[in-house]
Amino acid sequence: MPRESKANRKARALEIVSRLERSYPHATTELRWSDPFHLLVAVILSAQCTDVAVNKVTETLFRKYRKPQDFASADPAIFEQEIHSTGFFRNKTKSVLGAARMVIDEFGGEVPHTMEELLRLPGVQRKTGNVVMQIAFGEPSGIVVDTHVDRVSKRLGLVATTMKPPEKIEQALLDIYPRDKWIVFSQTLVLHGRYVCIARKPRCPDCVLEDLCPKIGVAK
Ligand code: SF4
Repeated sequence: MPRESKANRKARALEIVSRLERSYPHATTELRWSDPFHLLVAVILSAQCTDVAVNKVTETLFRKYRKPQDFASADPAIFEQEIHSTGFFRNKTKSVLGAARMVIDEFGGEVPHTMEELLRLPGVQRKTGNVVMQIAFGEPSGIVVDTHVDRVSKRLGLVATTMKPPEKIEQALLDIYPRDKWIVFSQTLVLHGRYVCIARKPRCPDCVLEDLCPKIGVAK
């Protein structure tokens, strides 16, 4: 693809988000949650695991552990067994139980409403913080960069294929998109990556972005 001017890339990027918005008009997380702390737990459990597998676990888990207090007083060995199928269960147990304790001790039992405070919770990095800010509070604090957003933004030529870590990719995307598009871009691109621009074999002929996409790194 010939080198694209900054202005052209911006115009293309805006067209991309507007088509995604039309394709996924109600885009939101597929994780099940009923309050901000449950959402935080679900996002922590979703690291290296599918939303479907997390929902299977939380269906029972959230009936037993309703409030941060319930998580804070959980027996770690039992909790590890309860979330075992989501993988990395030892670290995830430490993060969830530690986050519950900090929410109680430092934030009056409520999930904090700023990215800065969220990042102080164990196991919370910008991706988790952004999901909670966007979905639980409707606040565009940044752009969620998960495996789908990473892959699809690179195929679309919005960021360089060599770019990492996620924080750098997020910053590059924040420079392209206006703040009022951060939530819709994040939530629609995750779904587009999950269902159309699939990792192994993207479904380009079915993709609403095909004429806007240089398909960088996609096998011909
Ligand atoms: S055209 Fe293909 S590579 Fe580009 S976003 Fe669509 S599915 Fe992905």
